[in-house]
Amino acid sequence: DTIGTNLDRAVASWPGREALVDVPTGRRWTYAEFGADVEKLASALLGSGVAKGDRVGIWAVNCAEWVLVQYATARIGAIMVTINPAYRAHEVEYVLRQAGISLLFASLAHKTSDYRAMVEQVGPDCPELRETVYFGDASWDALLTRTAGGLRPAGQSCDEPVNIQYTSGTTGFPKGATLSHHNILNNGYFVGEAIGYTEQDRICVPVPFYHCFGMVMGNLAATSHGACMVIPAPSFDPAATLRAVQEERCTSLYGVPTMFIAELNLPDFASYDLSTLRTGIMAGSPCPVEVMKRVVAEMNMAEVSICYGMTETSPVSTQTRRDDDLEHRTGTVGRVLPHVEVKVVDPATGLTTPRGTAGELCTRGYGVMLGYWNEPEKTAEAVDAGRWMHTGDLAVMREDGYLQIVGRIKDMIIRGGENVYPREIEEFLYGYEKIADVQVVGVPDERYGEEILACVIPRDPADPPTLEDIADFCRDRLAHYKIPRRVEILTEFPMTVSGKVRKVELRQRFGDTA
Ligand code: ATP
Ligand code: MG
Repeated sequence: DTIGTNLDRAVASWPGREALVDVPTGRRWTYAEFGADVEKLASALLGSGVAKGDRVGIWAVNCAEWVLVQYATARIGAIMVTINPAYRAHEVEYVLRQAGISLLFASLAHKTSDYRAMVEQVGPDCPELRETVYFGDASWDALLTRTAGGLRPAGQSCDEPVNIQYTSGTTGFPKGATLSHHNILNNGYFVGEAIGYTEQDRICVPVPFYHCFGMVMGNLAATSHGACMVIPAPSFDPAATLRAVQEERCTSLYGVPTMFIAELNLPDFASYDLSTLRTGIMAGSPCPVEVMKRVVAEMNMAEVSICYGMTETSPVSTQTRRDDDLEHRTGTVGRVLPHVEVKVVDPATGLTTPRGTAGELCTRGYGVMLGYWNEPEKTAEAVDAGRWMHTGDLAVMREDGYLQIVGRIKDMIIRGGENVYPREIEEFLYGYEKIADVQVVGVPDERYGEEILACVIPRDPADPPTLEDIADFCRDRLAHYKIPRRVEILTEFPMTVSGKVRKVELRQRFGDTA
């Protein structure tokens, strides 16, 4: 299937079921209405001169129009380029030029971002950009008055590119992964299968659509199973998310771990009715066991699933299943999805490591991207001649076939010759009652090469834990070389828009103040 034919199937199978709810504006679409609006937008795009293979940018926070653009561009074979809504003018200019975007969809403004002002600033330097259409603006209404006339969409194959999606930029500058219909539609479908989605499900999606978590595991998983997508807010807001779950009677809730932490820590958390939830997905970064347990017990998400993946693999490679017990669901990232292969290799030799030992995770299968857009050298570094994607993540394949992510190669701390995995220390410190959230990073140290720094968000800002408190908590329960030697108390962590902590920034901020 292409994304267009997949949507046709959904419209034919579930015409009267709800497809999309935009909570902030109160608008709703059934599958029949959604299909008709996609058709209208696709026709308007053709009438505007957008042809197969053209790059159409989208620089916007979550809203219903975002989803319409996703399906309408796919329908006509255009390549939708998703742009991080946190970008500033010079960053969007880079993407507009690098991807050769001719038509741009954008939000007007959100919080401190005035998208229109930034587009007007850089537009003249982007020769290929012909037109910008803003959501909720006269330019959107004007676009929809156009029609294709006699034009029809060009023929499509499911192996042709449909998206350029940027990685989160957790470890450096984001990279644009070029993905085909086959890549992402299959992934959305199989992720939905593992969760057991049906047309009865209502999925609350507070994660950004610009990232694969929202647009593939959310939107494509929903339409390929007739489920409904619920948009709680333009950008993540913990209270709005729980309110949407309650009012829209959602059965599934998505989030990166920090989002679930923020929801669980709401002062009025207990007042929300979450009884309709049964499942959801936690993914994107390490999912702390303590958080997972609270999500199961306090959010009613008995079947919550952990997914592991990356933008370059469309994204999911491994996932826990509905029938996995809590031990497997809290300590691992599940088993490999159908039609995906994984191996764990010694980065030095490239040879597969024995089960139970750490190495670099490599994945292969239908999900591996076509390549980084216009960057063949970077593609060759990431995807080898055998089509294995080298993930940059350290993993252990357990005897029982469940995979554990130990951390990122770039985050590993080498202290006095010992390899230290921040993840393990973070997991341990989550069990300390004075700590609400914690990130462990390595900072340069004259004696040991690197020293262990714990960046702590205290549960009670008036009573933050001291270094001695933390050392006492760790004593006799953690090897001495893993015990943090420095602590910094913070109120928040530097985050990507996809909700990941940028450890690289913590390292830079505290690296030279020892
Ligand atoms: P960049 O590549 O730009 O530095 P990024 O790797 O965070 O950013 P994404 O493609 O959004 O960009 O994220 C993929 C990465 O997220 C994986 O390589 C892995 O490090 C991490 N990740 C995803 N899911 C999980 C998970 N369940 N547990 C641990 N880590 C995860
Ligand atoms: Mg990455």
